Amino acid sequence: MKVSAKGISKKYYRPSKNKSHFEALKNIDIDLNEGEFIKLSGRSGSGKSTLLYILSALLFPNSGNVFFDDKDIYSLNDEKLSRFRNQNIGIIPQGQTGLQALTVLQNILLPTSLFESSEKYEDYAKELMEKLEILHLASAKINELSGGEIRRMAIARSLIMNPKIIFADEPTDDLDSKNAETVLNIFKEKSKNGTTIFLVTHDNIVKKFADTSYIMEAGTLMLEN
Ligand code: ADP
Ligand code: MG
Repeated sequence: MKVSAKGISKKYYRPSKNKSHFEALKNIDIDLNEGEFIKLSGRSGSGKSTLLYILSALLFPNSGNVFFDDKDIYSLNDEKLSRFRNQNIGIIPQGQTGLQALTVLQNILLPTSLFESSEKYEDYAKELMEKLEILHLASAKINELSGGEIRRMAIARSLIMNPKIIFADEPTDDLDSKNAETVLNIFKEKSKNGTTIFLVTHDNIVKKFADTSYIMEAGTLMLEN
């Protein structure tokens, strides 16, 4: 699946600053090819997460379109968009995310249970947990985990449905270098098998895994050489 974004702009309303609008993204074009491993870096506040959310069908742009193959995703209604996201897209958001009431295994299986039964995914969940060294935490609750363990849980959750595209927002941030390498190797392996990886990071080692590297500067995108 190819993603093609054209003329993407995003303005945020800032009631605290004279009710002004802040232009977070300025007319961005980007293509994500099937199996491409894309790295995006840039200073804090430059618009990286905003772009990631727009490309991953979570945030409407003010102008521009995002196509997945020929499908204009923001023309879908809410229900169709949720289903589309669930079946095609894996997301690792910035920060620590997980449902407190569920165990680690249940959190990882959550995306599989939205539209079908999760049973047939259990073996794969355990395989991912083993690779990410969190299998022993299967029945633990989120508040018993370290930041790095929650992060690896979120990574397993993003992979469980075998998505066509993975959007990862600073996924190696709270990982030690060994776990970071493990995660990047999993993504690299996935991309060789046709999964597209879009990874926002400050981590310089990602460059050797990426096919294409971009830098964001004040809402504008450029290639990193
Ligand atoms: P990055 O991920 O590169 O750090 P973001 O995309 O999170 O940057 O944010 C880009 C800019 O947009 C920042 O200046 C941020 O303060 C602003 N911003 C992000 N989300 C909102 C929001 N919901 N309302 C107002 N401003 C926002
Ligand atoms: Mg961010």
